[in-house]
Amino acid sequence: MINTLPKIELHCHLDGSVRIETIIDIAKKENIEIPYYDYEKLKDKVTVKDTCSNLNDYLEKFDIANSVIQTKESLERITYELLEDASIENIKYMEIRFAPQLHTKNNLTYKEIVKSVINGIKKAEKEFEIKANIIISLMRNLSVESAFEVIKECKEFLGKGVVAVDLVSVEYEGFSNDFIDVIKKAKEYGYNITIHAGEQGSYKNVIDAINLLGAKRIGHGVKIENNKEAIELVKKNNVLLEMCPTSNIQTKNATDFKSYPFYKFFKDGISVSLNTDNRTVSDINLTNEIDSIFGNDINLEDYKKIYKNTIKHCFCDEQTKKWLKEFI
Ligand SMILES: [Zn+2]
Repeated sequence: MINTLPKIELHCHLDGSVRIETIIDIAKKENIEIPYYDYEKLKDKVTVKDTCSNLNDYLEKFDIANSVIQTKESLERITYELLEDASIENIKYMEIRFAPQLHTKNNLTYKEIVKSVINGIKKAEKEFEIKANIIISLMRNLSVESAFEVIKECKEFLGKGVVAVDLVSVEYEGFSNDFIDVIKKAKEYGYNITIHAGEQGSYKNVIDAINLLGAKRIGHGVKIENNKEAIELVKKNNVLLEMCPTSNIQTKNATDFKSYPFYKFFKDGISVSLNTDNRTVSDINLTNEIDSIFGNDINLEDYKKIYKNTIKHCFCDEQTKKWLKEFI
């Protein structure tokens, strides 16, 4: 039943969601060395296990996938396949995020990288009942100068496939201070702002992301649970939390599904959406996540409320929002 519900996914990383058979196929075709060319063995290597101790451990899983996403063809193919997989579970709209800074090994320009992903989206939109846009992720562990370059080079795609900018990778305390200028510039260009915060770091990073960077959405935000000030700020600014339960449990930033605060936040009046974060690395899809949170006795009224509220927080145009409302 859950599989047939219309869905929206706002937080999904392209490089964390590459089909394992595709990694093997591209590696063979492009003579790229990967640890295994056998499906099961490679799966073991690129998927997170219970032994994962924190976010840093989790992030190491991306290296193999990134090694095969270095050409225009592979960028287009992987995007198309992600949307094909999403359409099978009735996802109607997806915001795909990735960091152009990680796809330059063959000297592709940021423009070429983003254009290739847009081509993948266009191809999928023609074939499946799904629409998508891109969120440009900027790496917190790379230079601010290169972040400036990325947003400048990619601004021509705003409204034509690109909708927002994000800060990603290891979350250290007070990171927002380092990116005030670049996010301000991005806003001037017309990018929407969503920021990974309150995932590994504390609730203070969520407060900073809203107050210093003007985030309209927060990736994860799970760490605000026990802080009144952060909860009130999120509510007051109507910031949506893009929550990713399995990912948080795997990185030891949440204990289990039972105590995961998704439903608690929703009942408290916080805007929340459910997401996979990384389909391959976490070995999940959105249907699993909905099932794990709502269970068999899914409350359809609540599900509809969350779906409708999520539409309001999508960074797409009004026409797409109208289209999304037709499914519920
Ligand atoms: Zn994420």
